[in-house]
Amino acid sequence: MNSLEPESSTFRPRHLSPSSASTFRQCPRRWRLRYIDKLPDPKGEPAVLGTFVHEILEELLSLEAKDRSIDAAREIARQLWIRILDDEDFIALGFSESEVKAFMWKAWRLVERYFVLEDPAEVEVVRAEQKLSVEIGGVPFFGIVDLTERVSSGLRVVDYKTGKAPRSRYLDDKLSQVWLYAAALAEEDFDVSEVRLMYLTSGSIDRPLDSMAVASAVEGHRQTWDRLCQAIDTDNFSYKTGPLCNWCPYLDHCPEGAAEAERRYGPRD
Ligand code: SF4
Repeated sequence: MNSLEPESSTFRPRHLSPSSASTFRQCPRRWRLRYIDKLPDPKGEPAVLGTFVHEILEELLSLEAKDRSIDAAREIARQLWIRILDDEDFIALGFSESEVKAFMWKAWRLVERYFVLEDPAEVEVVRAEQKLSVEIGGVPFFGIVDLTERVSSGLRVVDYKTGKAPRSRYLDDKLSQVWLYAAALAEEDFDVSEVRLMYLTSGSIDRPLDSMAVASAVEGHRQTWDRLCQAIDTDNFSYKTGPLCNWCPYLDHCPEGAAEAERRYGPRD
């Protein structure tokens, strides 16, 4: 690992997104290897699948409400599929022919599940894939909101999830992302009244706006930012080993993580 240059001790990331904050909380060393040393962090299959499904839904919701049919989604998927075959993250997965087919069906089943969960023709889109770059709680924040829609109570912010719904003890952590979006949208004069995590595999988790939860998410984000700045200033990025080390792309740069992965899952090939 390179040392931070003395003059870089005032270095600050341009912004802190929920995913970057989550990486830092999970393991500060992993954050450093990714965001300072800029070592490649290739997307795994779940992330590539998630991006593909998000793109299908984004294009679907950009159509006139009356045109958002399953046939339209199928046509969008067909067109995006041609593109994904050339996508470097997809190619890096190194799939066999049968794995490519399985991936395609997995993606399509998630789109079909979306149609079970809601009728896109009834979604009143205010913004889709909205990039937010604002300051919240004194922290430069960046996030991309999947959907802000008009609902009877006002505005609902929606985050689509293609992975499994979290166990109840991890739910607050997942919700903190949409609370942060609500805080960031307020900075852009969008007053959110509800938040929704839509797990395509299992259903939606809805909450009315809870200003205490928003304040707590903003405070948590600020604390992560403060710890991150301190780690940068002291060039002290501790490691946190755990079950996820086995899937960390930086095992070759992290002897402690490699030992943890071997202890849990046996020697690597
Ligand atoms: S292998 Fe584990 S401890 Fe090492 S950087 Fe990755 S997540 Fe952190």
